[in-house]
Formats: sequence, C-alpha cells, structure tokens
Amino acid sequence: MRYFSYTGLPSRVIFGAGALARAGEEVGRLGCGRALLLSTPEQEPAARALAAQLGDLAVGVFAGALMHTPVAVTETAMEAVRSLGADCTVALGGGSTIGLGKAIALRTDLPQIVIPTTYAGSEATPILGETKDGLKTTERSLKVLPEVIIYDVELTLTLPTGLTATSGMNAIAHAVEALYSQDANPVTSLMAEDAVATLAHALPDILRDPQDRQARSEALYGAWLCGICLGTVGMSLHHKLCHVLGGTFDLPHAETHTVVLPHAAAYNAPNAAPAMQRLARALGVKDAPRGLYDLAVGLGAPTSLKALGMPESGIDRAADLALANPYWNPRPLDRDAIRSLLDDAWHGRPPSLN
Ligand code: NAD
Repeated sequence: MRYFSYTGLPSRVIFGAGALARAGEEVGRLGCGRALLLSTPEQEPAARALAAQLGDLAVGVFAGALMHTPVAVTETAMEAVRSLGADCTVALGGGSTIGLGKAIALRTDLPQIVIPTTYAGSEATPILGETKDGLKTTERSLKVLPEVIIYDVELTLTLPTGLTATSGMNAIAHAVEALYSQDANPVTSLMAEDAVATLAHALPDILRDPQDRQARSEALYGAWLCGICLGTVGMSLHHKLCHVLGGTFDLPHAETHTVVLPHAAAYNAPNAAPAMQRLARALGVKDAPRGLYDLAVGLGAPTSLKALGMPESGIDRAADLALANPYWNPRPLDRDAIRSLLDDAWHGRPPSLN
C-alpha cells in the first residue's frame, strides 16, 4: 500500500546547448521588456555579453552578488531596480547570484529568469537564505521561486574542476536526503535515483575532460533533478549539519556538503534501508555511504573538515548546535553518535556506523 502526498512546483525549464539564445524570447514571454541582469563580480563579463545580446530588453547589469545573500547587497541592488525601472531580473550564475534574484523577488515580486552555471540547485526551490549582521535566516515562499530556468551547458564549461566536483556532490546531497525524507514520495524518489546515477557517471568524465559537452550536459540535467528534490521535500541531518558548519565556522558551501554527505548517509543508513538500496543501485556499489565517499575521493574533492579550516575544538559546539532546533531525521539524534560522525568528518576517515 502506498501513502504519500506530492506538490509539484510551477516553473518553466528550457534546457539545451545554446539555450541562452532564447533569453530574449523568454523576457518577452513574461510580458517584460526591462530586464536587470545579475551576476557575481567574477561573472560580470558573461552578464554584460548577455545584456548586449538582449539589446533594448536589458536596462542594466548589477554584478555585486555575494555568497549567502547579504541584505546590504540586496539593498544596493534594489536601488538599481528602482532607478532603472526594471520589470524583471535575469540572474546568470550559481547559487549566490540566484539568491540575489530571489531576494529582489521577495521584496518586489518581479518575475525571474535564472540561468544556472553551477549544480547547486537553488533555481528550482522556493527557498531563500539571507544574511544580516552575521546571522543567516532561511524562508520558504513561492514568491522567490523563479518563473523560468534556462540551462545552457555552454556556460558550465568554465566551471573550475574543483567546484565542478564539490558542486556536483552538493547536488547529490539533495537527492540523497530526498530518498529518506519525511515527505519522500514516488515521483521525487524516481528523480533522486536518476539524478545520483546521472551525476555519478558524468562527474568523473568531466574531471577527465572539463570540455566534455556530453558529460557536462548530463551533469546539468542531474543537477536540475536534484534541485527539484530540494524544492519539493524536506531535508534532514545532512543539510542541518552543513548549515551549522557553514554558519558557525564560515566553511565553504559546496565543499562542506561534499565532506559531510557520506557520514550523514552512514548515520541514517540503519533507519533508511530502502533509500540506501536505491542509492547503492544508483552509485553501482554495495555500500551507499562508502560509495559516496569513494566518489568524492575519485573526484579529488576534499574529504575532511580539517582541510576546510574548521578548528578541531569546534566539533563539540557543532554537535550541540546540530541538536538545537533539529530538522526531522529518519534516525533519532544522539549527541555522542553525532559527535563521532563529526569527528570522522573532521579527520576525513571513511564513513562508519556511529
Ligand atoms: P556560487 O554561486 O557562490 O559561485 C562560486 C563562484 O564560482 C563564484 O565566484 C561564481 O562567480 C563562480 N562561478 C559560478 N559558475 C561558474 C562558471 N560556470 N564558470 C566560472 N565560474 C563560475 O556557488 P554555488 O555553490 O552555486 O552557490 C552557493 C550559494 O547558494 C550559497 O550561498 C548557498 O547557501 C546557496 N544555495 C541556495 C539554495 C536554495 O535553495 N536557496 C540551494 C543551493 C545553494
């Protein structure tokens, strides 16, 4: 017998090599004609090239997006929105740039076209994390869900191999937690399993040849599926630990996900047998947590929190914070076991049952 509920999120997706050429058409389709382009400082040249492509449909470029969506940056961008009379935003970049577009949408309800260039998945979620005075708050609102996503593999060819590996593992983490989510349902689980298999095949090929368009296209497709997983079902211990570690020790986002994932999966394995079977099948291994660890090692990605700059003395603090306001988790949270999990992750040991 099956019991589940499923809420699909509305969004239009254009996927394909060269899809960027459709951006103007999509601005018009939204009934807009004054797009403000958003990017990080590093991706400003790509945003300016897109502005040139859009011609009269673009009113300007704001290239100040930063990690963790600082409210001060959003306020500066809001001045540009007002002074330029923008009627939509076009965010070209990773989770940081897409976060800025979402923050503007929260304040204005302006429609968003997003053009992801990493595998983080923010484009497919109604979730926005914002930082003010060192404090990150997260909210969920359909107001911030982008109306249109344009996936163009050509834009991912420049993603450095290190970020390709960790951003890909960040995406896989969404699918892993979707498989054992409290809201797990057949549709999301199908996507999660396919996403893990697709990314696990594509990422090593990209690391061998970063210009491999076929593998890049598969990875981007897998990342979209992972984004849907993140947007449609609740996340558990892994995401909680990453939020705690990122927020408390200022650890880098995608790298932290990469290090923690095998350990969080091992912690939950005893209470998530069907999810682990699907995950093992997707990875083509017997033991799913070990398979995740081996995948990260094979990609040359970091495997220890120590290497990310976390002090060993922070392990106890992180364990305490993980237990404060916990997310729902398939296995009850045990302070000693969480501490051991973090100790393994700090040292970079293979995952074990704590
Ligand atoms: P990012 O957007 O911070 O990008 C990292 C760096 O890589 C930036 O300098 C960027 O300009 C550069 N870059 C991105 N794509 C590139 C490309 N194709 N070629 C060359 N350089 C490129 O990294 P991210 O991991 O995508 O995003 C992390 C942020 O997204 C975090 O703040 C995280 O909290 C947020 N996030 C939010 C959600 C959500 O649902 N709200 C989901 C995932 C991530």
